[in-house]
Amino acid sequence: MQNAAAPARDAADRPAPVLSVVIPIYNEQEALPLTVARLRPILDGMGISYEVVGIDDGSTDATPMIMQKIRQEWPELRIVRFARNSGHQAALTAGIHRAYGAYVVSIDADLQDPPEKIVEMYELAREKNLDIVYGVRGDRGTDTFFKRRTAGVYYWLMRKLVGKNMPNQAGDFRLLSRAAVDALKSLPEHQPVYRLLVPWLGFSSGEVVYVREERVAGSTHYPLSKMVRLALDSITNFSASPLRLATWLGLLSFLVCFCLAIYTTLQYAFGSTVPGWSSLFIGMLFIGGVQLICVGLLGEYIGRIYSAVQARPAYFVGYDSAEDTAAADRDQRVSEYAA
Ligand code: UDP
Ligand code: MG
Repeated sequence: MQNAAAPARDAADRPAPVLSVVIPIYNEQEALPLTVARLRPILDGMGISYEVVGIDDGSTDATPMIMQKIRQEWPELRIVRFARNSGHQAALTAGIHRAYGAYVVSIDADLQDPPEKIVEMYELAREKNLDIVYGVRGDRGTDTFFKRRTAGVYYWLMRKLVGKNMPNQAGDFRLLSRAAVDALKSLPEHQPVYRLLVPWLGFSSGEVVYVREERVAGSTHYPLSKMVRLALDSITNFSASPLRLATWLGLLSFLVCFCLAIYTTLQYAFGSTVPGWSSLFIGMLFIGGVQLICVGLLGEYIGRIYSAVQARPAYFVGYDSAEDTAAADRDQRVSEYAA
């Protein structure tokens, strides 16, 4: 937790900004300039000190160059570059851990989350003294039918796991106070799923409703495989009930086999000894299937236990412009002192 008496300082030992805006960025060469053009006037107009933490998640297109160029005219843009692509959630983690602001907003780089809402989030948090303000999607009209359906199932399931604290249709567009950020930082998780962890914190929260817009340029980096992974991570992060499913399936198959045994015994007693290899075969397949499901479920958890025990960091930061500035500041002071 932060020492309330001492004002927070950034890496260059200057007062920390009021607001940090964290943006995970992966191959967004088309979207990024448009996002910056829309975001900057809004932040400038808020009349508070701010930093924009752009996490370059190992982009392989022109994104790093574009970011450097933007930074030359916009010193509030801070660039944190990953050594390689580590995923959206890892980028969010780095951003949240490295942000200096008293409030931290996370937003996507593709303008699907309208940056105008940042003002609303900040004002709501200040006014009502809230620790968390969720951006809640009021309308997913621009998403594909498939995305809407899968998202519906995902949020339904997550509410079952995390409880009613979890707002429906809240993604990763949200505002966190320093207290909430510090609480998240204190968690030992290496691969946190924030949309579940944040509601789990149970801090005071509010909502800002927004319309999810269409991606401004480029295409999604969330193919089905990544969506399935996020869902699996979310479930195993928060619940051991799938493990119990194995027990229930086992019990069910036992019951079915028991009934079959009685049935065949009765058949035998009445003298109709049909060569019942098909029922035998079905029974065998059924049990084999149930066993494989159970082993698979165990594997999901053991895999995660394994990676938790390995405790490998979810990302490696190759470069942080704030530390660059800090070093430059230090050099400056040293040379002034020496002079
Ligand atoms: N992103 C990232 N690393 C990745 C994939 C995506 O940092 O490996 C960023 C991406 O640049 C964007 C945000 O995460 O700012 C959300 O990704 P995207 O828009 O592709 O997902 P969707 O909105 O379609 O779910
Ligand atoms: Mg998007």
